[in-house]
Amino acid sequence: MERYVEEVVVMDKPCKETELSKDYKGYGRIKRYDRYGIRHQLEHRWVYAIAHDYKFEEGEVVRHLCNNPGCIEITHLALGSYQDNTNDAIKAGRHIKGSRVGGAILTEFEVLDIKNLLDKGKLSHQEIADLYEVKRHCIADISSGRTWKHVK
Ligand SMILES: [Zn+2]
Repeated sequence: MERYVEEVVVMDKPCKETELSKDYKGYGRIKRYDRYGIRHQLEHRWVYAIAHDYKFEEGEVVRHLCNNPGCIEITHLALGSYQDNTNDAIKAGRHIKGSRVGGAILTEFEVLDIKNLLDKGKLSHQEIADLYEVKRHCIADISSGRTWKHVK
């Protein structure tokens, strides 16, 4: 018999669903306009940053304790690492197979977007990394062709 130690999270409040259009992963996306044009930002991440007056360090993600990607209820959001996020996703049974197997953080779909951004040359590697919530070296590797060479 395997024994599971489940993290029990008590939700005082119901989920608050985003009113924005959701991306293919179910996250609400904010359109922001700045000197680079339109940028899409994860809404729950933005909500967290505003509510806690928080500036993210590289590699930090905002987790959904309720495992509802479209939720923007602030008490359901917590700071975490990529690994936490992956663990949450596995627990919730929504871990994406296929392109994420083998520790890959991005999907082919996202890599295509990133390659387009790199081609345009308007954003730095760090800025693209922030946009996709990955580490800068992931973007540098895509840029140099060390990874994801087959995606064109
Ligand atoms: Zn929620």
